[in-house]
Amino acid sequence: MSIVRRINNVADVARWRLCSGCGACVPTCPEHAIHLVDIWDRGIRPVIDSANCSKCGECVKVCPGIAISHEPFNGQTISELRLSWGPVLEVWEGYAADPEICFRASSGGIATALSLFCVTEMRMSGVLHTGVDAENPLVNIPVFSRNREQLMSQTGSRYSPAAPCSGFGILEAVDSACVFVGKPCDVVALRKSQALEPRLDSKVGLAISIFCAGTPSSHGTKVLLDSLGVEPGDVAKLKYRGCGWPGMTTVKLKGTNGERREMSYEQSWGGILSRYVPLRCRLCPDSTGEFADISCGDPWYRSIEPSEPGQSLVLVRTEKGKEILKEAMRAGYVKLRRGDSYTVSASQPSLLKKRRQLWGRLLAMRMMQVPTPHFGGFSLFANWWCLSVSDKIRSVLGTLRRIILRKWTRPVKPSRKKCKMNKSQISIEKLVNSNCGEG
Ligand SMILES: Cc1cc2nc3c(=O)[nH]c(=O)nc-3n(C[C@H](O)[C@H](O)[C@H](O)COP(=O)(O)OP(=O)(O)OC[C@H]3O[C@@H](n4cnc5c(N)ncnc54)[C@H](O)[C@@H]3O)c2cc1C
Ligand code: SF4
Ligand code: SF4
Repeated sequence: MSIVRRINNVADVARWRLCSGCGACVPTCPEHAIHLVDIWDRGIRPVIDSANCSKCGECVKVCPGIAISHEPFNGQTISELRLSWGPVLEVWEGYAADPEICFRASSGGIATALSLFCVTEMRMSGVLHTGVDAENPLVNIPVFSRNREQLMSQTGSRYSPAAPCSGFGILEAVDSACVFVGKPCDVVALRKSQALEPRLDSKVGLAISIFCAGTPSSHGTKVLLDSLGVEPGDVAKLKYRGCGWPGMTTVKLKGTNGERREMSYEQSWGGILSRYVPLRCRLCPDSTGEFADISCGDPWYRSIEPSEPGQSLVLVRTEKGKEILKEAMRAGYVKLRRGDSYTVSASQPSLLKKRRQLWGRLLAMRMMQVPTPHFGGFSLFANWWCLSVSDKIRSVLGTLRRIILRKWTRPVKPSRKKCKMNKSQISIEKLVNSNCGEG
């Protein structure tokens, strides 16, 4: 079934479960006809005001949900990493030299330390990234940080819906170049938007991506809170990880003398949150930020010593990224040593497995005439071919089974179980249990 026949705008992208919730379609719409809602058991999704939509199709042009394509890779990229991890010029491992950043951050604080370097030493205007809504600690919003204090207050991974691209208007409005930090799909949306909008293009000084296995819906966070015996309304602060490596998932309770509930990262991500990742994330070809200048994740290839400070695995993907990383090292913002290529696959076995299964998953969807995204330049068949025969068969049959059981041959129905989000501001209307997820 042709994707062109079924998908005319971003509401169709969302109906066919292909939206990753980046938010880029909102600032792109010339008629201001799109707003975002956080659908309780799916994630942040666009809603089109059909009375104002001129059917220009601009929203679809920036959407990473339905299409991602690579240009041919630069010959300088590391050949053994190209097949499964895209263009990589250099591999590094290390941490933020500022011990407070390193402690509070998710891994080694490289995303925050490089952002701070760009703002302080390269005189960039600020950093568009993801932060917590001051009025609701369970809700993520796009934030624009201009100094160390603001950056520090938003360190750490938020394993819940976040749409940093809905803040692209901020980048267009500031005077000079900025940093963008986001998930891989957010960075793809940035690149597509840059190609269409010269004003935005001139403001992107550096694009940093964090590695990403998938964004759990708000339902995941509710289940997490339930298992800690905490009501959403009693949460004063929720940190999914950080303050150590990987650090604990910590909930600070309102109206108490700093009472906390904690859970290990393994329990919270591995045991709970990863079960609430939607279909589009399970079809994601780019989990390591292949379109960013620099991307960073966890060097899980080795065991972590107790109380070891955080470390980041850093992939340099462009000449611009290489230059800025070198300057940040020279200026003492980051401490890095050269990493080996083998550490990438050894650190991220589940991301590698997902990349290898993807061709089989997409084949099953096409066989059942379910609309699929277009992914160009990811060598999906060659990756799939690396699987064992039984895993190849499983990647197709398992998806066929899910398509039938979960009724993916039909678009999702509009959900009434929403967390309301107004353009750049989200507020959770109600956190309710639901069993009508898309994934
Ligand atoms: C949904 C999700 C899935 C992840 N999956 C993996 C994985 O599979 N493998 C792996 O190694 N690491 C994963 N991580 C963790 C992350 O990639 C690493 O911790 C990365 O190394 C960043 O660490 P840091 O210490 O440099 O970042 P920090 O210095 O702590 O900075 C983190 C930056 O990320 C931004 N950010 C936080 N949450 C989000 C979000 N939801 N959307 C967009 N931006 C956000 C913050 O605004 C901040 O700028 C995931 C994180 C998230 C949010
Ligand atoms: S642009 Fe982003 S938020 Fe909009 S439909 Fe596409 S993936 Fe979803
Ligand atoms: S898994 Fe891919 S599509 Fe899903 S949030 Fe992460 S980068 Fe985006």
